[in-house]
Parts: sequence; C-alpha cells; structure tokens
Amino acid sequence: MTNKCTVLVVEDDTGIGNYIQTILTANGYNVLRAQGGTEAEMLITSHCPDLVILDLGLPDMDGIEIIRSVRSWSRMPIIVVSARTHEKDKVLALDLGADDYLVKPFGSAEMLARVRTALRHAASGVDVPPTGSFTTGELMVDYDKRHVYIAGEDAKLTQNEYKIVALLSRYAGRVLTYDYILKSIWGPNLSGDNQILRVNMANIRRKIEQNPADPQYIFTETGVGYRMAE
Ligand code: CA
Repeated sequence: MTNKCTVLVVEDDTGIGNYIQTILTANGYNVLRAQGGTEAEMLITSHCPDLVILDLGLPDMDGIEIIRSVRSWSRMPIIVVSARTHEKDKVLALDLGADDYLVKPFGSAEMLARVRTALRHAASGVDVPPTGSFTTGELMVDYDKRHVYIAGEDAKLTQNEYKIVALLSRYAGRVLTYDYILKSIWGPNLSGDNQILRVNMANIRRKIEQNPADPQYIFTETGVGYRMAE
C-alpha cells in the first residue's frame, strides 16, 4: 500500500471545490475539504496535510491570514487560488510564503503540475545550496563551476545573471516574485524597483534564448515574476 499524499482544499465555492477534489482523487491523492478559514486552520493543525490548495476569498477570513499563521510554524506547501482580477493578493500571498498560484479558471493538467512541483520542492529541501547541475532542454546550469551552458556552449553570463538563472533553476516550475528575486540577489535593502531585474533578464534572454521575445526557458508571469521551465 503506497503512502498517499493528503491535500487540503480550502474553497467556499462548492462547485470549484468538487472540481479540485475530483481531479486530485482520480490522481491518487487523499483530499480533505474546508469551506472557510477557521475550519481550514483546524484541519491544518489536526491533520498536517502534505499540501494546501487555498482560495484567498473565504467567507470568514482572508486566505492571506492563513498563509501568515501557517508560515509561522510550518513550511508545508501552499498553492493559492485566486481570481484573475486580484493581482496584488497573488503577489502578497507569494511574498508571504505561498509556493505557487492558480488563476481561476484553471485546467486539471495545470493544477496537477503545480501540485507535483510544490510537493517535490517540499521533499527536496531547497534551502540547501545546490550542487551538481540542472538541465532543461539545451540549457544546463553547472552549480559547481557557476556557469550556464546552452547546447554545451558557455552562455557567458555575468555574476548576477548567473545568480538569477541559478535561483530560478532551483525552483524550476515554480513562479518566483520580482521582490523575492531582487531580495535574494541584491539583498533586503534594495527598493521595490524591478528595473534592475528587467535589464538583467533582457540580457540573460539575449544570451540563452533562441528568440528572446518568445522564451522557452524563463517565462514571464505578468505582474508577478518569472518561472523557469522544468
Ligand atoms: Ca471564494
């Protein structure tokens, strides 16, 4: 008997909750359901699920508060579900420690990919500095030599460009916010201006992408951040 992962689905819309539950159950996950924030917090502390899918707009509580309280004691992966119009909430949720987000309406393949990525990152402990290498398509990040190669050729990235690509590759498949990347590379005191990151990203894409306008390795999540291909 395999050890199934347990996913807590926090969603007050029964239709969407059922939709998520059906997909997860069909793919071998155990599912717990909560309709509101209080119930969710109770289930989180009593069942310690492997992952939480969290709607931000709950009747009794802002989903953001749940992220805040869970992150004070646990790193369990949290995937936020939000409406397309609530871009600020999405970014705030990620900056508070949510692992990823889904925008309604979303398909089953997209949701399952996000779930797998979040569970894998939780299991691998990304806080440990990486060794070895990361490969996707023709791109290879060599963590020991601190170089990035495209089809075996050194992409000749600068120090900061390398750091950005290495950071994104460690979290491949997962969106990282502009703010998170800026703080990781330039330190916590940099102001919230994305310009420096945009300039670096334009240079990185010129060096690693065949067509920088239609990237295949590092994708832009408009208004949120960047995501590297898995
Ligand atoms: Ca809702």
